[in-house]
Amino acid sequence: MHADILVSSLMATHVISTAAEAKLADTIQCMIDNQYSCMIVVENDRPIGIITERDIVRLMGLFITNMPQCPILVADVMSVPVATISGDATLFEALVISTAQKIRHLPVVDTDGRMIGLVTQSDLAKAHFKIYDNQREVIEHSVSQRTKELMEANEELKSLSLVDALTGLGNRRAMEVDLEHTHSQALRYNRSYTVALFDVDHFKLYNDCYGHKAGDDALRCISRHLQGSIRTCDRLYRYGGEEILLIMPETTLHGALILADRILASLVELKVLHEKSSDGVLTLSCGVASQVEVNGYESWEGLVDLADRGLYASKNNGRNRTTIIPPEDAVDSSVPRMHGIYQ
Ligand code: GH3
Ligand code: MG
Ligand code: MG
Repeated sequence: MHADILVSSLMATHVISTAAEAKLADTIQCMIDNQYSCMIVVENDRPIGIITERDIVRLMGLFITNMPQCPILVADVMSVPVATISGDATLFEALVISTAQKIRHLPVVDTDGRMIGLVTQSDLAKAHFKIYDNQREVIEHSVSQRTKELMEANEELKSLSLVDALTGLGNRRAMEVDLEHTHSQALRYNRSYTVALFDVDHFKLYNDCYGHKAGDDALRCISRHLQGSIRTCDRLYRYGGEEILLIMPETTLHGALILADRILASLVELKVLHEKSSDGVLTLSCGVASQVEVNGYESWEGLVDLADRGLYASKNNGRNRTTIIPPEDAVDSSVPRMHGIYQ
């Protein structure tokens, strides 16, 4: 039951904090860089205060009252583009989008893009709780009735899960919703984004040699490694068995290639033993593809397919490497070749 879920199992453990005597400008810069909505002020490991967006708004209010002719317009400070959601979208889709993009307010739009409302993260959390409450009601029914209804309630809860149980990365369903949304935003606002598809090299041999349980541990280790190597706005999903997809918004093919190469190189340095592989350690192969601003793909499937072709080429060319395949209709000759090979 949800009453038994401990806060310690939900909390983030790497909390970046600030000190009362820290410069406000540095603290705000840290909030901007990490997309934090607040920072805890700590003294001797104890929280003594909190700086939230509201405090910064209050401060801005003071400044602006003293500058009645303040020339700054809303357009100068607003975030663009704004992520929106259709009124027909499901709770699951809203959860994926708000989680992936770390946003707490989603304007709801009609088919013409006109605003019809706003959903917040707390509305989504309330909806989640309603499902738990339904489940509790079912449990209170007579035993004969509740088995089937409980199964249905459990299915409903499972269907809201965004996370892959083994790796802790986003699951395949969440990935599809995120890609659908990211792609349609890219088309509407003429933005680019890049995907990287990773696949563990000779993983069948790894399982054969060390056992399936060790294989699971290796997948968890690789997932943690990837998670620790990306920026806050990038998102990781378990694409399939031992394949992982990384979505990098506003990233060029060149930037993504550098990141992917760095991830592969640092995994080698982790030295996870794989005696049946020619490298002697666990390695990844990768394919990278970019949605370009103009003449990009109509759908995300085409882009992921291109990354998959890159991955296939990496496998054929010796594994433990990244291959980029720029879209045929937007070949970018400025992209350095580095490890990458074009097809
Ligand atoms: P390649 O370098 O060409 O990718 O070779 P491979 O052996 O990694 O590829 P293949 O597709 O032949 O095998 C994938 C293996 O990944 C087989 C499958 O049992 C294993 N696998 C997939 N999901 C899991 C999982 O959740 N846990 C474990 N332990 N193994 C998994
Ligand atoms: Mg595979
Ligand atoms: Mg593999």
